[in-house]
Amino acid sequence: MVAGFVFARSLALAEWPKVSAVRLKAGFPAYSASLPQRPASDLLSSAPPSLFGFTKATSPLGPSRSLQTKASHALYIHIPFCIRKCHYCDFVSYPGRSPEEMAAYCRDLEREMALVSQKWQPGPAATVYIGGGTPTLLSARDLEQVLDAVARYFGRQPGAEVSIEANPGTVDEAKLRDLRAAGVNRLSLGAQAFDDDLLGAMGRIHRRRDTYQACELARRAGFSNINLDLIFGLPGQTLDGWRATLREAVALQPEHIAAYSLQVEEGTPWGKLAAAGELPLPGEELELAMYQEARVILTAAGYRQYEISNFARPGYQCRHNLTYWLNQPYLGLGAAAASSWQGRRWQNYSDLHQYRHTLSRGRLPRAEIETLTPRQQMAETMFMGLRLLAGVDLQAFRQRFWVDAREIYARELDRLYQAGLVEEKNGHLRLTEKGLPLANEVFVQFV
Ligand code: SF4
Repeated sequence: MVAGFVFARSLALAEWPKVSAVRLKAGFPAYSASLPQRPASDLLSSAPPSLFGFTKATSPLGPSRSLQTKASHALYIHIPFCIRKCHYCDFVSYPGRSPEEMAAYCRDLEREMALVSQKWQPGPAATVYIGGGTPTLLSARDLEQVLDAVARYFGRQPGAEVSIEANPGTVDEAKLRDLRAAGVNRLSLGAQAFDDDLLGAMGRIHRRRDTYQACELARRAGFSNINLDLIFGLPGQTLDGWRATLREAVALQPEHIAAYSLQVEEGTPWGKLAAAGELPLPGEELELAMYQEARVILTAAGYRQYEISNFARPGYQCRHNLTYWLNQPYLGLGAAAASSWQGRRWQNYSDLHQYRHTLSRGRLPRAEIETLTPRQQMAETMFMGLRLLAGVDLQAFRQRFWVDAREIYARELDRLYQAGLVEEKNGHLRLTEKGLPLANEVFVQFV
């Protein structure tokens, strides 16, 4: 057994607690796996121009320590609808809603955009990420309206990355062309597996051929930046089966691949089976072997690992997700969406009625607001930044917080150095090869 081994699945984001050290397994957006994570490479060259939101002239201990530049924020839009729930999923997504209800939700989003842009005046977004749920369940018209509203209330920086998540079973060429024409320039396909038996067992609505078709249609529609999400550690999955999935993914030549380990969440159908001991999950050793296999196969195919679970062709790191890993400001719109802005973090209501009702009264639909102390911000900068293979930029940390990470975390780092889990290289603190699969054990040192 591999003690303490954890993987991380994804980062999507509708629920910020998932990003916290408490639930390191998954990333933001959607799934998680605790350890290795996914995306980020050449990040220093592809990250937004201002990596950190604090000005040098502002003491992190002063009242304006969280001053953020208008030049680097990210915008996340949550679409909480799916055709049906997958057996492992605990994301905020509601199955079986009508087109009218989804259109009404888009109008609510516009109301929220009006309030948020008026309150924060954030300026144009560096990245826009439409996640879910299944955003491509919306009609092209609804999606265009959402993107129009983004342009009206926020604007986009020149060259902004505009991503949308898509279930391969919910796209056609016309919709993809419309999205491309509306400015979407990155398509993230939830392929998850290339084994129809596994896809069926997961409760996915799509099959292997749908992913092939979606990729082909996306290329025809003009997408030159495609991500495939994959999940390993599935019940009954073998190492050979995982290898086959990786090879099929590579053969489709996406610019980006995210490989997350399955996170079995309580309360889901698979969570209940697991609790009853009836879910044949691979053991930790096999899961670790799958993770290492992904690293080997994807690296050999020309992808560069830049984050625990993310691999990209040069220049194709996900800039939006880098915002999270670099602990930069982001605004989340929609039910359950989280925001991190000017030293505060909040999450919107997950309940659609509550979300709508609050907006209809002209108020922001915030369910929880937390003011982060400088110490919390430092901790998050450390454990999110360590997900990146490049690690935490120590000079940038000092410029942001006016303290040296090596001093403030001297005891913790001493333990981690002794254990061989972290190292300092080129001015960055990063996980070692040994530390990569044990990332969660490293992260908790900073909490
Ligand atoms: S498609 Fe499945 S995994 Fe994705 S949000 Fe919907 S229910 Fe969850």
